[in-house]
Amino acid sequence: MTVVPELKPQDVGVAVPIAPQISLDTYAYDYIIIGGGTSGSVLASRLSEDPSVSVLVIERGPVAETWTSRVPLLSSNIFDKDGPIRTWWSLPMRNANNRFAQIMSSEALGGVSRINGLLYTRGTPGDYNQWKALGNPGWGYEDLEPYFVKSEKTSSHPASKFRGHDEPDLQRSLPYESIVKIADSIVRALQKAGIEQVPDLNAPDAPAACVGRTDHIVDNDHDRSSTNRAFLSPQLTQERKSRLKICTSTLVTRLELAGLGDEFRAVGVHFEANDPRLARQQYFAKARREVVLCAGALASPQILMLSGLGPEEHLRQKGISVVRDLPAVGNHLQDHVGLPIMFEVPMRDSVHQLQTNPLMAAVEFGKYLVAGRGILSHPLELMSTFVPTRLLDEDLSLSTHDARELDASIPKNRPDIEFM
Ligand SMILES: Cc1cc2nc3c(=O)[nH]c(=O)nc-3n(C[C@H](O)[C@H](O)[C@H](O)COP(=O)(O)OP(=O)(O)OC[C@H]3O[C@@H](n4cnc5c(N)ncnc54)[C@H](O)[C@@H]3O)c2cc1C
Repeated sequence: MTVVPELKPQDVGVAVPIAPQISLDTYAYDYIIIGGGTSGSVLASRLSEDPSVSVLVIERGPVAETWTSRVPLLSSNIFDKDGPIRTWWSLPMRNANNRFAQIMSSEALGGVSRINGLLYTRGTPGDYNQWKALGNPGWGYEDLEPYFVKSEKTSSHPASKFRGHDEPDLQRSLPYESIVKIADSIVRALQKAGIEQVPDLNAPDAPAACVGRTDHIVDNDHDRSSTNRAFLSPQLTQERKSRLKICTSTLVTRLELAGLGDEFRAVGVHFEANDPRLARQQYFAKARREVVLCAGALASPQILMLSGLGPEEHLRQKGISVVRDLPAVGNHLQDHVGLPIMFEVPMRDSVHQLQTNPLMAAVEFGKYLVAGRGILSHPLELMSTFVPTRLLDEDLSLSTHDARELDASIPKNRPDIEFM
């Protein structure tokens, strides 16, 4: 069986302290990608398309491909003790009555795309237009749409010009087969509140308040199509292994920065085995062109701070030499807090039947094994509803049908809540 070639720190870096006879160029790559997660897997695949370019990916977790990690429903269980889950805990939060938040993340090639809800959600055009408005040319929705299209093969919207159809073996979104009957009742209730159902939640002309069936990221076999599977398949990584090095179970500890004043840049990366027993031995690799930091929303600023880039006072408290006082690094985290609300439904309408009804569990298991169908082939979410809460009136109905207020390409109209 073809597998992703996993390398160790000593295969891709030079041991530190660096012996004088060793040439650093032996351990130099055009690009070093920190974090082979959701985005890192895509970047590694795209950058290594050019046969003259060398790429090193350093990922904290292993490849860890198992049968359950491919089954949509089972792999979405973020409380699975055997899954590639990593939990961070927040400090007590003043605005949440001093409670702690549990922040889920993943530690494996493919990152959070290995455990997430499998929903293919682009975000509204207004989200990206807001980035552009903040002074980031090239990041508006129209700039980015070609890249969405390039990375997708949808089977649920065959005629849409906004969706991708051609790319083989990449992400594939399939429509939900209605196996849980409550979905239709929810749509009817929302329609009574003035929130319309749309055929494609990811179409850029979908209104800011709408409900629709979600697209799910699965492959031809109805297996989870995490970004490592879609973009760094065993076959692709074997073909490119002379120029694309994938170093797993390895922790980046800091960046090597060079230059003076405003002109400094990352020129290399320090790392060690992610096994505490081996972690004393440090390694270094040099980047000829760029270091791409995509270790996730929490670890990316952590690595910047460990490299001396962050709020000066905090770095000093931690004994880190300050390279640049950057108060924003590690601050202003925005996350989508999930608040589960439970209500009773007849058992025949619940996925909990899989736990209470052994016969049904056996049938569903068989359906998935034979045809890749049934409940196991679905993620937990069936549909999503997006709403800008400022447009809800007191009885939670939509207060306007004015097209200008519902134009989701305008940043101020962006929905700020999702009912899943
Ligand atoms: C439970 C859950 C469900 C979600 N469901 C959905 C969904 O259904 N649809 C959707 O669109 N979005 C969903 N999201 C959000 C989405 O999955 C994430 O925003 C996205 O995957 C983040 O990608 P990333 O590349 O930024 O980070 P990650 O995928 O987290 O990748 C970062 C990688 O960096 C590695 N890393 C971290 N530190 C280091 C280090 N020091 N050295 C080396 N490697 C390091 C990590 O191991 C990880 O693999 C969900 C998120 C969660 C947590």
